[in-house]
Amino acid sequence: MNANFASLMPQVLGVWCEELGHDVTLVCYTGFENLVDELPKNVDIVFIGAFSEAAQTAYALSNLFRSRGAVTVLGGPHARCYPQDAQKYFDYVVGLTDKQVIEDVLEDCSPHQSLGLHITAKQQPFSIPGVRERWKFIESTLKKAPLIKLVPMIGSLGCPYTCSFCIDSVIPYQPLDFGILKEDLSFLLTKFRRPLVGWHDPNFGIRFDDYLNAIEESVPPDSIDFIAESSLSLLSEPHVKRLKRNGFKAILPGIESWYELGGKSKTNGIAGMNKVSQVSEHVNMILRYIPYIQTNFVLGLDTDEGSEPFELTKRFLDLTPGAFPGYSLLSAFGQAAPLNLEYQRAGSVLPFPFHFLDNNHAMNVKPKNYSWPEFYQNVIDLTRYTFTWKAIAKRFAATGSVKPRLMNVLRAVSSEGFGRIKYFTEVRRLLRTDRQFRGFFEKETTRIPPFYTDMIRKDLGSLWDWLPPGAMYHDPNAYLKAENLRSAQSSGKTPVLVEHIFEK
Ligand code: SF4
Repeated sequence: MNANFASLMPQVLGVWCEELGHDVTLVCYTGFENLVDELPKNVDIVFIGAFSEAAQTAYALSNLFRSRGAVTVLGGPHARCYPQDAQKYFDYVVGLTDKQVIEDVLEDCSPHQSLGLHITAKQQPFSIPGVRERWKFIESTLKKAPLIKLVPMIGSLGCPYTCSFCIDSVIPYQPLDFGILKEDLSFLLTKFRRPLVGWHDPNFGIRFDDYLNAIEESVPPDSIDFIAESSLSLLSEPHVKRLKRNGFKAILPGIESWYELGGKSKTNGIAGMNKVSQVSEHVNMILRYIPYIQTNFVLGLDTDEGSEPFELTKRFLDLTPGAFPGYSLLSAFGQAAPLNLEYQRAGSVLPFPFHFLDNNHAMNVKPKNYSWPEFYQNVIDLTRYTFTWKAIAKRFAATGSVKPRLMNVLRAVSSEGFGRIKYFTEVRRLLRTDRQFRGFFEKETTRIPPFYTDMIRKDLGSLWDWLPPGAMYHDPNAYLKAENLRSAQSSGKTPVLVEHIFEK
């Protein structure tokens, strides 16, 4: 499946670089290739797009390419969230990226070994190359996906909602050119008998009628399968019926919490069991039209206390057996969202190596109302409840069609279901028995426990030898320090910088 999760922006960059007269090779790393063999040897400049969980891999790659004389650039979520750290390992770190930013980097194209240049556009680009222009990059990426081939498309950027933890909450909503989108959908019908499109919009369907009109005007009804992330507030019954008519097969709404963030689930003002009942009814209505729904939850929010939030999620599972729950442990990704400043001010952010910041392998915010063992106990309990054979069978029976049924079973028995129960159980055991391990969680030491360093070494394989010294560590309060520096400079005061000292 991994090639199906490939990001869109590296493909966009490939098109822009070619338009600017360069020869481009694009490699999508799905986690299995031997990158040292697969990557081209003689390149002038390398752009790497990475989520934070791939940061250590990206840092090692940058080091490898720099040793061969190339200039390196980091973009994507990690560059947006942790620019100060990434500047230590790349010649350029790009934030919001448009064609002008790329042109500037290509023109300068010089090494900045001591500290990379941080460049960011004022806003997201107003247009990006569509599927037709990106096709050769899409095609080479999808060759790595043998069974399901998901084409990445996008029709809008940003989001009008303000979920405090979300990187898109501070990006104004902006639709892209629906004309390009219409052409792309028609183009896809010439490439696949029945295409499968994954919408990368942060929140699909904000301008619901315009969007659906564009789809209906360009392709026959239900001729393409679509998958999208959308908030429950946009998924009224008439909207869901229209989505079904147009081939939508999977929807991923965020519920997040039983106590807050009610705006996006249309449950403002209600909480607890009342919210569970209302959301469950809503999701069951959607399931009558759309065969696959993943409901997303964040575990460990500051409003959570005791076992009640976990018990409420279990009641939701009982009432909504057809939905597949996706759990994320609360994570503060650097400067992704203003809320992270509050966590950093409170001293709650832990320096977990980026490699584990995938919302599951680590929670880098100390839970406000739980001890660590208590928190993990609740997480294990909920995960077990979700993936008992009885729950898997109930989900199977409550799901209408064959593919979603199989998908649910596969996810349950894979690293996502059974695998996580095993992993969380090991973390809880170490929290109880290993003083150094627990000390890291309690911020008594910054020395990374061997449990984690061993895993990074194993996952990086031959790239481990290219990981630069110090690249396992980062300053978890870099955002706060940068903000303090900025406000001190703007008020004319002399800033005092306190360096975070790590044990090596
Ligand atoms: S609705 Fe979704 S995309 Fe929009 S701010 Fe909230 S989490 Fe982010």
